[in-house]
Amino acid sequence: MSWTDGLEHILRQDEPLAPWNWLRLGGPAQYFAEPTAVEELQTLVQRCRQEEIPVRLLGAGSNVLIPDTGLAGVTIALTAAVFSQIRVDENRIRAGGGAKLGQVISTAAREGLGGLEALVAIPGTIGGGLHGNAGTQNVDMGQWTDEATVMTRAGEILVRTREDMHFSYRKSTLDELVILDAVFVLNPDDPREVTRRMQKEWIVRRAQQPSGDVSCARLFKDVGGIEARELIEEAGLKATRVGGAELSEQHPNFLIAHHGCTSDDVIRLIDLVKTQVRERTGVDLATEIEIW
Ligand SMILES: Cc1cc2nc3c(=O)[nH]c(=O)nc-3n(C[C@H](O)[C@H](O)[C@H](O)COP(=O)(O)OP(=O)(O)OC[C@H]3O[C@@H](n4cnc5c(N)ncnc54)[C@H](O)[C@@H]3O)c2cc1C
Repeated sequence: MSWTDGLEHILRQDEPLAPWNWLRLGGPAQYFAEPTAVEELQTLVQRCRQEEIPVRLLGAGSNVLIPDTGLAGVTIALTAAVFSQIRVDENRIRAGGGAKLGQVISTAAREGLGGLEALVAIPGTIGGGLHGNAGTQNVDMGQWTDEATVMTRAGEILVRTREDMHFSYRKSTLDELVILDAVFVLNPDDPREVTRRMQKEWIVRRAQQPSGDVSCARLFKDVGGIEARELIEEAGLKATRVGGAELSEQHPNFLIAHHGCTSDDVIRLIDLVKTQVRERTGVDLATEIEIW
């Protein structure tokens, strides 16, 4: 029996991953899986464990850099409807790990539930967002999260409560293989007020990041209250370019991948920025984007 038996309908080989990430970079996944049910996902995860096949979870790909050589093993995407359901029960919203953060926020606004609207311009899924506790300088996803259902690398399903999760700046203890869903407890409010705040935040935030049809990513974490953007500017590195990878002139903590850019160009640019920022400001930058 092969580990793929009965899973052929959800597996593809040599799937190009560039269309699956915001930078539109990187080589193919050896196997790409789009399970259609939790049980299928569980079988896949258990088989990979038995066969010692590496497994990764890909959300919307807005915070990962995929190597030019591609990814060995199985890359899983929670694209099926069953993983992106959004249900509202009074002031609680349960959202699937594959649901888009933006959709959860607009549902909350429509239902008159406030809190998450400050995160409106952050791309990505609930799973990706909770994995790295996505947020702004003042608000993050973790602070509204009451519960999460996760699947371990052994395929076990666990419920993590508020008490056994910890969130800090761009970090969470939700480090199991899959975040299946999460419950957010929000503040009841006038839907028009929440919508107004959401629209205002959208306008402010969109002015702070590249817009339009650009392949881009946020590169570095802020350091102790200092924005990475300021450190890059102070080091005189705005618009620095390596191959097809360029720091945005207007938003220096964003990388723009121009036509012909490779993941290797991005890595070389990241190394250059880290070295020069350290030399010129004495501060060590850490990448926000995950280099896979
Ligand atoms: C234009 C732009 C603006 C951005 N602005 C912000 C910002 O203001 N604040 C901020 O915090 N971030 C920001 N980011 C980064 C990014 O949007 C967030 O990190 C986002 O939450 C990543 O979600 P994703 O679904 O794209 O995850 P991916 O990039 O696909 O994955 C990121 C990590 O999450 C894991 N993951 C994904 N789904 C799951 C799951 N279901 N279960 C378990 N693990 C999972 C992946 O394995 C990987 O380790 C920005 C990015 C861009 C491109």
